[in-house]
Amino acid sequence: MTWVFDPPALPYLPVQGSDARFPLRRIFCVGRNYAEHARELGNDPDREPPFFFTKPADSVVLSGATIPYPTATANLHHEAELVVALAGGGSDVAPEAASALIFGYAAGNDLTRRDLQAAAKEMRRPWDMAKGFDRSAVCGPLRRGPLADGAIRGLVNGALRQQARLSDMIWPVADVIAHLSRLVRLAPGDLIFTGTPAGVGPLQPGDVCRVEIDGLSPAEITIAAATR
Ligand code: MN
Repeated sequence: MTWVFDPPALPYLPVQGSDARFPLRRIFCVGRNYAEHARELGNDPDREPPFFFTKPADSVVLSGATIPYPTATANLHHEAELVVALAGGGSDVAPEAASALIFGYAAGNDLTRRDLQAAAKEMRRPWDMAKGFDRSAVCGPLRRGPLADGAIRGLVNGALRQQARLSDMIWPVADVIAHLSRLVRLAPGDLIFTGTPAGVGPLQPGDVCRVEIDGLSPAEITIAAATR
C-alpha cells in the first residue's frame, strides 16, 4: 500500500511542562453557554439546551501565532473560551462519569466571522463558514488535570473586553460532555470549546488578542494584515 500523497501532519496541542503533544481528532464548540453573552446577541438564555457546532481539527492555531486577518469577512470577533481536552470517550456519558474522560484544559479563542454568522442566522443557513474557517480555533497549551473555578478574561491590546467566572456557564463542563455524547461518540483527541462570556467584539489587523484563565497558560495571537 502507498498513500496517493503524503498524509497531512496531525494537528496537535502542546502539553504544558512536557514535550508531549496531544493529537487532535475533532473540535466541538458550544453555543450560548453564558447568559449575558446569549442576551448580547439577542437570544433567550433560559430555555435552551446546549447546542453545538464544529471546527476542523486543522483549524487549530497555537498560542503565540501571528495570523492573517481572515478572508471573506469585515467583522472578525474574538470569543474567549475554556477548552476541554478528552483522553477518553464514549456515547451517552452520564454527567457523573464525564470528568474521568478529561485529559486537561486550555485557554482558547473561538474566532468568528460575525458578519457571516449573522447572515447565516438570517437566511437559516449553516454556520460552518462563520465558525470553521482556517486558523479559527486558537488554543493555549494544555494543562493536565482538574481545573478549579476561576476567572476567564479576553483582552485586546491589553484592554479588558470579556470577563466572567467559569462557574457562570449555563451548562457546566460535565453537562456539556453528557449532552454532546448523546449526539456523537466522543473519543480521545476531542476538544470542546465551552462557550464565551459577554463582551465579544471585533479584531483589526495589528491587534494582539489574549485569553486568560486562572490556572492556565494564556492563548495569545496577533492579527496581521489580510493576505488577499
Ligand atoms: Mn464560541
